[in-house]
Amino acid sequence: MEKIFNYIGGKLVEPISGQYLDNYDPATGKIYSLTPDSDERDVEKAVEAASKAFPYWSKLSPEKRCEKLLKIADLVNQNLEILAEAESIDTGKPKSLASQVDIPRAVLNFRFYATAIIHFSSEFYETTGQAINYTLRQPIGVVGCISPWNLPLYLFTWKIAPALAAGNCVVAKPSEITPMTAFMLSKLCIEAEMPEGVLNVVHGLGQKVGAHIVKHPQIRAISFTGGTQTGKWIAAQAAPLFKKLSLELGGKNPSIIFSDCEYEKTLETNVRSSFMNQGEICLCSSRIFIEKPIYERFRNDFVQRVKSLRVGDPLEKETELGAVVSETHMNKILSYISLAREEGGEILTGGKRSILSGRCQNGYFIEPTVIEGLSFDCRTNQEEIFGPVVTIQPFETEEEVLNYANSVSYGLSATVWTENLSRAHRVASRLESGIVWVNSWLLRDLRTPFGGVKNSGLGREGGFEALRFFTEEKNVCIKIDNL
Ligand code: NDP
Repeated sequence: MEKIFNYIGGKLVEPISGQYLDNYDPATGKIYSLTPDSDERDVEKAVEAASKAFPYWSKLSPEKRCEKLLKIADLVNQNLEILAEAESIDTGKPKSLASQVDIPRAVLNFRFYATAIIHFSSEFYETTGQAINYTLRQPIGVVGCISPWNLPLYLFTWKIAPALAAGNCVVAKPSEITPMTAFMLSKLCIEAEMPEGVLNVVHGLGQKVGAHIVKHPQIRAISFTGGTQTGKWIAAQAAPLFKKLSLELGGKNPSIIFSDCEYEKTLETNVRSSFMNQGEICLCSSRIFIEKPIYERFRNDFVQRVKSLRVGDPLEKETELGAVVSETHMNKILSYISLAREEGGEILTGGKRSILSGRCQNGYFIEPTVIEGLSFDCRTNQEEIFGPVVTIQPFETEEEVLNYANSVSYGLSATVWTENLSRAHRVASRLESGIVWVNSWLLRDLRTPFGGVKNSGLGREGGFEALRFFTEEKNVCIKIDNL
């Protein structure tokens, strides 16, 4: 059975405990590899290696750091299909999705930040007649990056690329549920001759490895993507240590569909935004609000489209929905479907585990599920499910739908569907959400700020925001006589 290793000080190493965790293929329910069950001793080694590498890496010119990161991007790109297959096996997502979205985006993350650092600049202020001020933006030192299982390499690289580009050294922990592509990336970093200790990857449990990264006094900033509860705990630990924190957390994203929308495009995109990656994307729509005049028509067409989605073996080309990430997660999603029934919801399609035949007969598949008839404030409509489950509801006025949309504790993303320009601007400005898409979904420009409000997080990733997060500002004021 394949063993995954930590990447510390430029080398692939076993965990100090010698212990491993089982890593499952969710499409078959079988253990297929072993992940290091690392502990604080491994984190300690990683911090030592990163601290040692920092003086060299932070003083390297941005152009040289750019070259290294571009080299890694090229290697990821050359290995795109192998990485996509590995990502599919590790997460249960369709391989086609991993090769079209996850891995190309990982390449782009490296390319984007490799080049962004060359264009990064800081401010200058003249204090008229007295002084000039300039602001230095210096790398922080050793930083921690903790990422989740839903878009493993995509989100892992979204953090480490800006951190490294800005001149920091990194101790990173991928989710122990999906460690494979971060391990493969470690090997590519060795091939790219990344200087030892600049990037360190420590695999293992959140409560051991993750928690130690969060508490380690030499790790001066934490960039975390994951659940809101974990985010809360991390914030509480980091606050007394005055660490910089970036938290990208859960969501319960509304899709607001007005009668004057471009119908076909709206229908097609809402099927995608609800069920892509089995609904396991923090940006997926989970509550669809449809204006009354088109409610019945839209509901019927939507359900018909959802019924035709192909749930199947993630490695097969035609598969549109693969397995959800683990048995525990499958049971959590199914328990929310039961809750929806208890709360008076009617299941229009789906609603149960999908049993496949052949090699996937024990896999963790769930039918794409559409639920109608729930109140906007019931638990099913307030709590994050993070699976192939969406609720639909009619509305009559803008005021009413804004109230529904904003009623949740989350505020990550929202979509608005209308051809009325004034309404689009008005609704977008009143939504409590970090990101609003009008007549689109997941249309990403990496230069834009990315993140949520309320319980969806703190701070923004993306563009120069991430480079600002991963640097400390220092103002230098020079008094000049007779300026
Ligand atoms: P978790 O919060 O459970 O875990 C995220 C990461 O944190 C994992 O690597 C996990 O390790 C680690 N972790 C767990 N406990 C601790 C701890 N005490 N200290 C430090 N690290 C810890 O989230 P999931 O992996 O379940 O991911 C799903 C969640 O992520 C959803 O809520 C989703 O909305 C959110 N998400 C948000 C995004 C955003 O950009 N806003 C994007 C993608 C997902 P381990 O795996 O071992 O538990």
